[in-house]
Amino acid sequence: MNRAEDLEVAGRTVLVRADLNVPLDTGGGARAMGSGGSPPGENSAPPGQHSIADDGRIRASLPTIRDLLARGAAVIVCAHLGRPKGDDYAERAAGGPSLRPVADRLAELLGQPVALADDVAGESARVIAATMGAGEVALLENVRFEPAETSKDDEVRGELAARLAALADLYVGDGFGAMHRKHASVYDTPRLLPHAAGQLVLAEVAVLRQLTTSPARPYVVVLGGAKVSDKLAVIGNLVGSASSHFTTPPSASPHPTTPPSASPHPTTPPTADRLLIAGGMAYTFLAAQGRRIGDSILQAEQIGQVTTVLADAAKADVEVVLPVDHVVADRFSAGAEPEVVHGPDIPDGKIGLDIGPATRELFGRKLADAKTVFWNGPPGVFEFPAFAAGTRAVAEAISAVTGLTVVGGGDSAAAVRQLNLPADAFTHISTGGGASLEYLEGRELPGLVALEDRA
Ligand code: ADP
Ligand code: MG
Repeated sequence: MNRAEDLEVAGRTVLVRADLNVPLDTGGGARAMGSGGSPPGENSAPPGQHSIADDGRIRASLPTIRDLLARGAAVIVCAHLGRPKGDDYAERAAGGPSLRPVADRLAELLGQPVALADDVAGESARVIAATMGAGEVALLENVRFEPAETSKDDEVRGELAARLAALADLYVGDGFGAMHRKHASVYDTPRLLPHAAGQLVLAEVAVLRQLTTSPARPYVVVLGGAKVSDKLAVIGNLVGSASSHFTTPPSASPHPTTPPSASPHPTTPPTADRLLIAGGMAYTFLAAQGRRIGDSILQAEQIGQVTTVLADAAKADVEVVLPVDHVVADRFSAGAEPEVVHGPDIPDGKIGLDIGPATRELFGRKLADAKTVFWNGPPGVFEFPAFAAGTRAVAEAISAVTGLTVVGGGDSAAAVRQLNLPADAFTHISTGGGASLEYLEGRELPGLVALEDRA
């Protein structure tokens, strides 16, 4: 893979695909990222305005942008934010979210103005691209305002990719968190320009490669978050299930023309020694074991696959550790009264929102001797302070581990930063949730494949 740092960029315009998909607090509602229903954080903006809840992804994109600027490039940044809704460009652009707050924050962090185009790859973007000079930065509007960005149709994506490519001389892929998407700005655009990987992508891949090539043992994986369906494939891999058990979403199917030798990681990742399961997904596991889960989040249709996973784990000698107690409430709300349920069964009418004290302790013991840890997904609804103790306990237990410790996932990374642990508490905080999980599954990420091909 070419490195962005090796590109000749002086006097040239570089299109950088970054991952600036930060969680937003909206005055009255849900966040742009994360599972539905996430509450606004403490620093909520007034109604209708967005403020950035965690700017980690913007900060992570700075090294590449700064390096290109310092070497005399004009930098056009392309990124997505949230999930704009609507059938066409106009509807999506009207509904937002706009990258405006991100442009403002990027300008603050870079210490220089960032021009925000009024569109993605239309008249406004073309004018900015044609008039900007060396050392200047511009940001295109939310690339997902263009329905073509996520189209399954190669031609439809290709048309947008051509408009994006026409804005610049070179392409740098640095949006690790979007690399698992076969999207126009991630997969198709790099094929039209000389391209290279940015510093963030190279750093992410270097760490994930360590996890997938003979990790020091015990190798302990902690998985939480809302939905088990998001993570079944990686769980299957970690417990040595035959991959045929699980369905592969078409958006990220391996690139058929790439020979295995070009793969940046082995196709069969190593199994874990221990898998600690918490968060919303734990209730589907507990239900599969015949436990009562009250009104906790459940994906009943996944119980069959979860049962298979548990059987495969037993065969492969992977220890699966589930919550043994819970913190529950009678409603999903920041203001709900937390109540500890001692024991694995949750009474009717109660919702499990965090792991309980005995589970915090159990997880701590299961992490104590780990030499390698990967953690994705908060073990509780950490956005509500009364239900954040499990997330804090897991973060602290992992930060005490000496060895390779990696946190992946947008919400997990935001949770960890909220805890204000020391900067060196983890070896690496990945900016990618889905992307890091798919990498761990041994799947080829379309964005990486596109960067590997020589232009
Ligand atoms: P990441 O972004 O780190 O990959 P996910 O998006 O998978 O993590 O999951 C994060 C979400 O999971 C958080 O918004 C959190 O509130 C939610 N979550 C954690 N525990 C529970 C629970 N018990 N019930 C419902 N949602 C939960
Ligand atoms: Mg998330």
